[in-house]
Amino acid sequence: MKALLIYPEFPDTFWSFRYALKFIHRKASSPPLGLLTIAAMLPEAWEKRLVDMNVERLYDDDLKWADLVFISAMSVQKESVKEVIARCKAAEVGIVAGGPLFTTEYEAFGTVDHLVLNEAEITLPRFLKDFENCVAGHFYTTDQWADMRKTPVPLWGLINMKRYASINIQYSRGCPFNCEFCDITLLCGRTPRTKDKDQIIMELESVYASGFRGQVFFVDDNFIGNKKKLKEEILPAIIEWMDMRKHPFTFNTQASIELSDHKDLMEMMVRAGFDVVFIGIETPHEQSLAECSKFQNKNRDLLASVRNIQKSGLEVQGGFIVGFDNDPPTIFDTQIEFIQKSGVVTAMVGILNALPRTKLYERLKKEQRLLKETSGNNTDFSTNFIPVMDYDLLINGYKKVLGTLYSPRHYYERVRTFLREYAPSQKKLFHFRFNYLAAFIRSIIVLGIIGKERFHYWRLLLWTMLKRPRLIPQAVTLSIYGFHFRKIFEKRLG
Ligand code: SF4
Repeated sequence: MKALLIYPEFPDTFWSFRYALKFIHRKASSPPLGLLTIAAMLPEAWEKRLVDMNVERLYDDDLKWADLVFISAMSVQKESVKEVIARCKAAEVGIVAGGPLFTTEYEAFGTVDHLVLNEAEITLPRFLKDFENCVAGHFYTTDQWADMRKTPVPLWGLINMKRYASINIQYSRGCPFNCEFCDITLLCGRTPRTKDKDQIIMELESVYASGFRGQVFFVDDNFIGNKKKLKEEILPAIIEWMDMRKHPFTFNTQASIELSDHKDLMEMMVRAGFDVVFIGIETPHEQSLAECSKFQNKNRDLLASVRNIQKSGLEVQGGFIVGFDNDPPTIFDTQIEFIQKSGVVTAMVGILNALPRTKLYERLKKEQRLLKETSGNNTDFSTNFIPVMDYDLLINGYKKVLGTLYSPRHYYERVRTFLREYAPSQKKLFHFRFNYLAAFIRSIIVLGIIGKERFHYWRLLLWTMLKRPRLIPQAVTLSIYGFHFRKIFEKRLG
């Protein structure tokens, strides 16, 4: 049996980092972790190949070779998914599909032969058993949560690691919170489930053995969902392994804001090699936080929380939302002011959209305010429901937020604010000097000579050299990110 695993293409988005990847000669941010894990669950005797359309082309010969195609995708890959399905149909090859897009929107994919949904550790073995007995059905689902201690190590051998800027690992699934707009609890549950320390070390070892060095992304939606296990088991094991292997990786992840209340946890994360954490800050407007049940962000000084995390040695990337029912017309200026003050350089601001099956979606359905499905692109200039605020006011306000935040002046100002607060780990800078050097030289040409941000670029470099010389690599990296964000938004803002 020949299995072809296909990862559909992402459009150019905030998170694609397409324009930044060119500086380090990489094709995509990270590999398809879900499909690589699925590959490890398929029978050993099967021949397996993987085509990640974000780094290579899918040829008709690939489809001719395959007996069965496996597709996994997120909502934002929807357009590419439709094309892949049409090509598989034309090539008369059977399709098995799973992952977040198919799990939440399966009704839209009736032509897929086998929908293997929810947690693959549970549904895939059922499908494979039926397939072996020639009785494979159309729909496999479960309301159970898988035991992650049984999840295998991804088959890294199916990809060329050198094409990716970072490699990803999953430690946990599920989040104890229950934000109204979020589909994570729907897909992964509210009780965090975790892998064991031996599994994590085995996965790190497998990435190390592949020769990859650099950034490893823990893809968990809330890495600190189970703090006790992290502090007592996982982080000590990672710290020991990183010391033993002489710090081959830096780590980034996602967490909830109360990380800032746990000094010991932040210290351990930094010692383990974490240097960036994405946090859903959403909004400084209390009534809107209450509306979306983001209670962990309420009644706290959000600016102080962000600073606390930055001071511990973790860069904070932030998610922000406009378009809540409770947002006043001043929300756009409030968000701009907050983000500028916070020094959250990578600030992903989106308009609230209702993802299928979320609590928000169900509420809006009842209120007869739903208009269409979402595109899955967090920075789309549209919303899929009737907002309380005037629609044009919302869209124009949103454009103003993006236009301001990603103008070179405001962006570079934010970088300086961040660098003033940031206290990075000593170990980090030593290992990636060569990468920094190559990207630095290119940044001088693209940003310092040709780019419209050249004044701000040189001003930042000079400022950093004088005030925080150790942070030159961060200044260059963030300048390159800024170039990507500017390109993405400039194209769309016109
Ligand atoms: S904290 Fe984050 S992952 Fe958890 S429910 Fe809220 S938005 Fe989702």
